[in-house]
Amino acid sequence: MKYLSTRNSNLDLSFFEILFQGLSKDGGLFLPHEWPALDINSLKNKTYEELAIEVIHPYVSVEISKNDLKKIIDESYKNFSNPKIAPVTTIDQNKYILELFYGPTFSFKDYALQFLSNLFTYALPKASKKLTVLGATSGDTGSAAIHAFRGKQDINVFILHPYKRVSEVQRRQMTTVKDENIFNIAIKGNFDDCQKIVKELFIDDDLQQKTSLTAINSINWARLIAQVVYYFWAFLQIDEKEINFIVPSGNFGNVFSANVAKNMGLPINQLHIATNQNDILHSSISKGLMKKNVVTQTYSPSMDIQVSSNFERQLFESSGRDSESINHIFKEFSKNNSYTFDKNIQNDLQSCYSTTAVSNDETINAIKEIKEKYHYLADPHTATGLHVLLEKEGNLPWVSLACAHPAKFGDVIEKATGEPPVLPKDLSKFFDKEEKMTILNNNKDILKSLILQNI
Ligand SMILES: *Cc1c(COP(=O)(O)O)cnc(C)c1O
Repeated sequence: MKYLSTRNSNLDLSFFEILFQGLSKDGGLFLPHEWPALDINSLKNKTYEELAIEVIHPYVSVEISKNDLKKIIDESYKNFSNPKIAPVTTIDQNKYILELFYGPTFSFKDYALQFLSNLFTYALPKASKKLTVLGATSGDTGSAAIHAFRGKQDINVFILHPYKRVSEVQRRQMTTVKDENIFNIAIKGNFDDCQKIVKELFIDDDLQQKTSLTAINSINWARLIAQVVYYFWAFLQIDEKEINFIVPSGNFGNVFSANVAKNMGLPINQLHIATNQNDILHSSISKGLMKKNVVTQTYSPSMDIQVSSNFERQLFESSGRDSESINHIFKEFSKNNSYTFDKNIQNDLQSCYSTTAVSNDETINAIKEIKEKYHYLADPHTATGLHVLLEKEGNLPWVSLACAHPAKFGDVIEKATGEPPVLPKDLSKFFDKEEKMTILNNNKDILKSLILQNI
């Protein structure tokens, strides 16, 4: 399998090249030249790990043997606290929840980042490189990355979070990790400020010459292929002819993985996207208008995003894999902060996805209603999807994704239900440990010198 960029479809890169590069130098995102097809019947009765091998191997087969991939996958999921890894529970007829919070940091980010870190460890000696992982987080990605990369040889990890703007559980999951290769940086600013610093350092030639910088956010293709697995898994657990999914979305990574599963032969009938009040995806798909607004803070902070990086991958597909039109779209969009898609792209988007923008009040009400009616406690991100699930009818199964454990967002749960969630034992342990982080002013040069001193 070779890879192209959404902004240059003539590229022909190997999996290891795109693994470390993350983002293409032309500004585009990597995609495979074609979609491998899987025979669903051959996947029945496999464990989660066995299924993962079959789903992922076509994308890495040139570089990684099935045997080696098995070791990487077994290592990635061995610390998950549920034997099914991603269990499916039913709350009502044809209404299901796919639970993705059994990894070490209790959000679905673990399913991809554990795999990514083991892939890096596997590929690093072969590439004889020392890595500096640099990323910004609004909470879940940072903690998942820190727990995935802690103690790894030849990899240093710098994670920026906005000072005093992540939940206490999220912060403690990051700052109580004491391994020498982990650096927690609290920036006096908001999440956009953190992302801006990261982007500036990625194009800093001086820094690039001194170390090999790597991105671990969901623009990295390896993260998306790990997420494809649980869509196949949910279908195989439910065992109907066709299936529908509801996916709470921010950066469009998770729901794009669902569409990849569909391209590989999974019989998905409908994909429904739930956004919060930051509704650029809703507007892009339902009206064809991609317009950048100011990010508002909501009860689902991991979805507080205006420009969804992975949406570019979908636009590439919806334009008939035409990298010239992608270059045109993003040139115009960065000039005007707005772009209206032509009818062909708009029709294709609507044939793939339906959307709902869910308000804060609706999120709170969904948490309350699902608890009262079904005795199920959902985190606020999951609740945006459940708001949609409550209204769905028909003969096909609807599966809504549970993206994080409710205890990560205790304040919102208490607001919705009147009582704080019970902390699972593995989460309460973070409250006994000492924290370690460096608080920095919102300035890229200070961070750059800190990185250079520590690598
Ligand atoms: C990251 C995250 C999301 C958004 O997922 P995308 O892949 O960015 O669309 C939703 N909920 C939670 C809890 C998350 O951590």
